[in-house]
Amino acid sequence: MTSSAELFERARALMPGGVNSPVRAFGSVGGTPPFMVSGRGPYLTDADGREYVDLVCSWGPALLGHAHPEVLAAVHAAVDRGLSFGASTPAESELAELVMGRVGAVERLRMVSTGTEATMTAVRLARGFTGRNLVIKFAGCYHGHLDGLLASAGSGVATLALPGSAGVTEATAAETLVLPYNDLAAVEEAFAVRGQEIAAVITEAAPANMGVVEPQPGFNAALARITAANGALLIFDEVLTGFRTGYAGYWGLTGGAADSDAPFVPDLLTFGKVIGGGLPVAALGGRAEVMDHLAPVGPVYQAGTLSGNPVAMAAGVATLTHATHEVYEHIDARSAQLSAAVSEALSAAGVDHSIQRAGNLFSVAFGTSAAGVRNYADAQAQEAFRYGPFFHAMLDAGVYLPPSVFEAWFLSSAHDDTAMDRILAALPAAAKAAAAA
Ligand code: PMP
Repeated sequence: MTSSAELFERARALMPGGVNSPVRAFGSVGGTPPFMVSGRGPYLTDADGREYVDLVCSWGPALLGHAHPEVLAAVHAAVDRGLSFGASTPAESELAELVMGRVGAVERLRMVSTGTEATMTAVRLARGFTGRNLVIKFAGCYHGHLDGLLASAGSGVATLALPGSAGVTEATAAETLVLPYNDLAAVEEAFAVRGQEIAAVITEAAPANMGVVEPQPGFNAALARITAANGALLIFDEVLTGFRTGYAGYWGLTGGAADSDAPFVPDLLTFGKVIGGGLPVAALGGRAEVMDHLAPVGPVYQAGTLSGNPVAMAAGVATLTHATHEVYEHIDARSAQLSAAVSEALSAAGVDHSIQRAGNLFSVAFGTSAAGVRNYADAQAQEAFRYGPFFHAMLDAGVYLPPSVFEAWFLSSAHDDTAMDRILAALPAAAKAAAAA
């Protein structure tokens, strides 16, 4: 079989950087990325036949682990009926009902194929609904690669230390106001000055693309209050957190929980990743009054040849059906266990750090123990150089971590004791490598 090194060399001649999504190229951690050929449960196998415990989980979708038998069976059955019809199919309503049954803030849903499409449509819809142009986003939040939201974006934009993106016009950039995360005074001030022009505030439900950052208590509820008071909409981006941080996403865990200290209802929510269980599904949903501004009912246009694709819907339906409360209890417990072990290993090696946590999502930041990471400035000021050696020590020991310090670590219901033991055994040496960096 061809090795990962040979496959990477071949890919580099064919695709920019040898990849179809930038962070996969290992730019910030260095080295040759393993090319994966199969996955099962919590494990991935690369082209060299090496097996890894996977802590990327396809960047979120693999909530149930790889190749979950019932998800595969549902996909196989759908494939046998044909791949795509360009007409409505029953599975679209089935998935929509599953989403609405879990997330009460969703009164109408529109399926798309990627998170980028979901947020792009949500922004267009907010503009169409309010008749206003400006959008507020927070530095370090990533909402996909739509032009208007690439300024100070997290994820690969942060990993590659880019200010934004070439190819975005000044006119487009001027329609986005970028504010520091967790800073309500900045939001109040922006509305005081330009409130009549602001169509929406878009925020990650809990940021996880500058590493994980917890919203300060009441932050999201305050955004809902401020937007409502000013005739603007709140777009709550749950592409990453949705159906991962809990049965009803991060909203269900916080503002939408029955016992919430700071209840609120977002106008629009975006979903992706887990909703498709590994196939290209994303969606936007929210208040019927707003959603009904979408074509064909309303004047805001949006469409997709493969939207609601029957095979992808089957994967989503099967994934959500098996994403039970027990699955979240398991992932919550594994997350607590792993983050505690990482912290212990780093402390034992004398590495200053903070565990960044929001629900069951977590990441590690270096040199940040004093105050943790509260915003993008904190995330950028950390000792990011310690992550590369840590990452490679883990990789050498057969643990596949996200290849960037600005990404969350992802677990699944398939991460059992055997998989966890392999991760835990690798931590002390990785912590020493981080200390020596
Ligand atoms: N929003 C958030 C919060 C995300 O994390 C991502 C992707 N990581 C996106 C939007 C974009 O989704 P996609 O990559 O499917 O376009």
